[in-house]
This record gives sequence, structure tokens and C-alpha cells, in this order.
Amino acid sequence: MAEKRTEISELGEFGLIDKIKSEVKLQNPGTLFGIGDDAAVIDNGDEVMLITTDMLNEGVHFDLSYTPLMHLGYKAVAVNVSDIAAMNGTPGQITVSLGLSNRFSVEAVEELYRGIRQACTNYKVDLVGGDTTTSRSGLVISITAIGSCKKTEVSYRHTARENDLLCVTGALAGAYIGLQLLEREKQAYLANPDMQPELEGKDYMIQRQLKPEARMDVIHELRELRVIPTAMIDISDGLASEIMHLCKNSNLGAVITEDKLPIDQQTYETVREFDLDPLTCILNGGEDYELLFTIKQDDFDKIRNHPDITIIGVMKDASSGINVVTKAGNHFPLKAQGWVHF
Ligand code: ADP
Ligand code: MG
Repeated sequence: MAEKRTEISELGEFGLIDKIKSEVKLQNPGTLFGIGDDAAVIDNGDEVMLITTDMLNEGVHFDLSYTPLMHLGYKAVAVNVSDIAAMNGTPGQITVSLGLSNRFSVEAVEELYRGIRQACTNYKVDLVGGDTTTSRSGLVISITAIGSCKKTEVSYRHTARENDLLCVTGALAGAYIGLQLLEREKQAYLANPDMQPELEGKDYMIQRQLKPEARMDVIHELRELRVIPTAMIDISDGLASEIMHLCKNSNLGAVITEDKLPIDQQTYETVREFDLDPLTCILNGGEDYELLFTIKQDDFDKIRNHPDITIIGVMKDASSGINVVTKAGNHFPLKAQGWVHF
């Protein structure tokens, strides 16, 4: 009898991870949390050690025809630091593993490391090792970040409570629109290599796509304000997808107010230029690497005047579902698209 073959696309990325998780048994009491959050949590006395890994693949996560290697190196570090931030932690070390083909010169690798080192300086992390190997399918960068946090201050995805305020940092959709701009320019260039790029006034969005920042600044500020998020996740796949993770893991619903969703003016105008729907871009555009977190209502006064934090909704019980209230006052249930690579 032929063995059963299930396509990965039937499960999707999250379904596959759930399956892997369900078949893993933790053996060591020091492993406080394994698969299923932004980073694993390992006992370390009064503190915990946080560990996270992210891989970037050429042709899937980046296109070298418009991605400078230096920016790519920076981004590869930033996305890992973002996962440490999403646990309310501070990053300390990274390891960098590369898959390289002979298309890449020593100078190219040096350029990549210029970006990696710049990110290490900015986020105060030490590069402590890695691995170098051959790749036959383009450039692969896999980074592991190690961080720490006081044991009592870790922000998981599963610990939000009903009536907590749902908050987001910064502005959304910029990175997604940046990608649309870069793709548009690439197609125009392929059609006519003599053309002049039309990216004037679009720097902000290009920067959001090519060189995102992890919000360690907000993590430090929350610490100063003595606010410990009751739950937190970083926005890599898109706001809708991350809200669903927080709700599902915390066994809650939520109501989100469209009017409050933060988008920068330039981004908004460019969304309209592309004839796209701003709400769809905010909910489903990925890679902003902002933080989505919940706080107790009692902490409202501490963050209400923070220029980089917006309250976008409230956590509800699971039976009320996850709903968006539109500007017109209509309710619709949230659906996540996220990024589908398979
Ligand atoms: P993030 O977007 O925050 O990086 P992911 O969606 O990539 O998180 O991963 C969610 C969880 O699943 C994390 O705990 C991650 O470590 C784990 N995970 C992802 N891929 C695998 C895998 N192949 N084997 C084991 N755990 C995995
Ligand atoms: Mg994450």
C-alpha cells in the first residue's frame, strides 16, 4: 500500500508547527516554555534565558536585486531581537549561520556583516558564533538570539486577561507598502532598464521594508513606566494574524477599533495610490516588527500619553469572538491571511 502523503499546504505553517509541538515531550524541568511563543524560556535562577531563531531565504524573504546586503544583515538581526523584545526580554548574544554559493564574494559577505555588526552595536548584542556552509539555492541566513528577562516579568502570548487593553507600537503597513514599491520599481526596471526610479518621498516605507527596527526602545520605556505587558507578540506576519495568536493562546476574544489603527500619513497616501484598502494593508501587511501587547486597565494612565503606543482594542471572552468595529460602526469578524510561503 502506498504511504499516505499530506501536502504541507494542507496544514499551513502554523498547522505544521502545532503538529510538531504536539509530538514533542519536554524532559527537563529547566525548560519553562518550549514551542509556541516568540522565544523559548529556560530557567536561569531569578532570571530566564530566552532563545529564538529566524531564517531568511533568498527568493522567499528577500530579493537581492533591490536589497542591499548591509540592510539584509541588519534586518536578519533585528527580526530576532524583535522576538526577544516580544517576551519583554533584553537580547545579549546572537549566532549567525550562513548558506553561501559561489555567486557571493568575500566582499559581499563583508557587506552583510557590516549590517550585522551595526545591528549588534545598536541593540548591544554580541556576535558569539555561527556556522558557514554551502547553499545551492541562494543565500540563507539563520540567526539565533539569546536574551534574558527577570523570571517574574516574562510576557507570554497565553497570559492576556479579559478586559485588558490591546496596544500596538508605532505605525503599521509601512513595510508592506515598501515592498510593493520595490516590486513595482523592479518590474519597471526589467521592462526598461533606462527608466528613472520613482521613489522620491517614499524613503520611510522603503526603510520600513529593508531596515526594520526591533522595538527595544519601547521595552525599556515600559520598564521605566513599571508596566509589564500581560501578554505580548511581535508583528511579523501581520496584525490580524498576531491578534489571533494572542486570542487563541489566551483563550479570549477581542474587539478592535478601526479608527484607532495606526498608519503613517505617507503610507496612507501610497496605499491609495496603489488602489489598495488601508484597513486590509494594516491588518494583513507583514514585517512591521512592531509589538502587539496587552496591559491591565490599571496601567492605562501610565501609557496614555506615550507617543509610540496606541490602544487599538480590548480583550473579551472567547465566546464573543474577534471583531473589528469599522469607522461606520459596523462589526466584522477578523480573519488572518498572514504570509503563506507554502
Ligand atoms: P515567530 O513568528 O515569532 O518567529 P514562528 O511562527 O516562526 O514565531 O514560530 C512559532 C513557534 O514555533 C516558536 O516557538 C518557534 O520556535 C516554533 N517553531 C517554528 N518552527 C519550528 C520547527 N521546525 N521545529 C520546532 N519548533 C518550531
Ligand atoms: Mg515573533
